[in-house]
Amino acid sequence: MALIVHKYGGTSMGSTERIRNVAKRVAKWARAGHQMVVVPSAMSGETNRLLGLAKDVSPAVHSPAVARELDMIACTGEQVSVGLLALAIQAEGLEAVSYSGWQVPIKTDSSYTKARIESIDDARVRADLAAGKVVVITGFQGVDEGNNITTLGRGGSDTSAVAVAAAMKADECLIYTDVDGVYTTDPRVVPEARRLHTISFEEMLEMASLGSKVLQIRSVEFAGKYRVPMRVLSSFTSWDIPIEEEAKSGTLITFEEDEKMEQAVVSGIAFNRDEAKITVLGVPDKPGIAYGILGKVAEANIDVDVIIQNVSNEGKTDFSFTVHRNDYQRTVDLLKSDVVPALGAAAVIGDTRICKVSIVGIGMRSHAGVASTMFRCLSEEGINIQMITTSEIKTSVVIDEKYMELAVRALHRAFELDQ
Ligand code: ASP
Ligand code: MG
Repeated sequence: MALIVHKYGGTSMGSTERIRNVAKRVAKWARAGHQMVVVPSAMSGETNRLLGLAKDVSPAVHSPAVARELDMIACTGEQVSVGLLALAIQAEGLEAVSYSGWQVPIKTDSSYTKARIESIDDARVRADLAAGKVVVITGFQGVDEGNNITTLGRGGSDTSAVAVAAAMKADECLIYTDVDGVYTTDPRVVPEARRLHTISFEEMLEMASLGSKVLQIRSVEFAGKYRVPMRVLSSFTSWDIPIEEEAKSGTLITFEEDEKMEQAVVSGIAFNRDEAKITVLGVPDKPGIAYGILGKVAEANIDVDVIIQNVSNEGKTDFSFTVHRNDYQRTVDLLKSDVVPALGAAAVIGDTRICKVSIVGIGMRSHAGVASTMFRCLSEEGINIQMITTSEIKTSVVIDEKYMELAVRALHRAFELDQ
């Protein structure tokens, strides 16, 4: 008998019919003798609908002052889901009980709309499991020290599930979704993309932070920190496929690098269009410049990603970096009003029509020349590289967004990911 956590995403919970299907699948696992904890998302579209209502009544939905109330609204989607799913599991003839985050409790800090889980008290859940019940817990929500409801950020149900699995030392956390695993890249862009049978946790972390939308990044961080065995698989297979088959399907996130030794140097290609590039022109090349620019940006709580500073020419240099597109205007305004005059820089220019394309693979550590294969491939396609950044296991380039799909397809071919 194992302790298993299942997480079901919004599309898997998208209608009462699908919820009945989820219940049948869960019941199959419970009848096989496993202790089951299930963490569903809100029904698909529901969180957007709820946040849309908030927008209708408040002009200030982006202000931190209203974030507490946003969480109060957004968390209800998951509350409906757990109630419906517990009922559907009961209708399968099993005992089931549903809980909100605060009832468990799943304790978080107080950063509304993007709270971090601090601890989970599993006593109540354990008692239910011991009594033979299936326990259904809301994804996405928690409670802070002052008993305020919090949510974990969009896509946060993944993190709830992995955190519950970590706290309870579950044998496995199965993330059921509308795709059948993690792919070498987005199959909508490259139809030849292949499903990976395994991906290392570090690669998954890079893929998630570089733009693959399969898992919320924090869920992967949790899995890595607490070594939670985790698998991404489809909820659209027929619910009654044999458990042994189901348990081997999808993509397993591994912690064993050795397994990957014979595999490709590059495991996947990630991309995103979420960033914008900003350049401060003609800054004096002297100590304190990076701090003078990025210190101000950090004070405004704006995250910076890729950074480039070139050698100076006659004491002046240009300084470029990327921020999230949502922060673009705010960053440009801030630089123009505060930074340019203070540093004596010439001007600020920017470009929102960029994208970042990245190759990811732990094999890159032990293979030279991987990045140059990437650069050659892009040059053969006539694609200009604007910025480059590397780590041990990834190389990212910033290019014009109109070449994004071309670049991803060419790289997928160049690294033979379709084979
Ligand atoms: N319902 C939340 C969202 O739409 C959380 C989740 O689905 O993971 O972002
Ligand atoms: Mg999701």
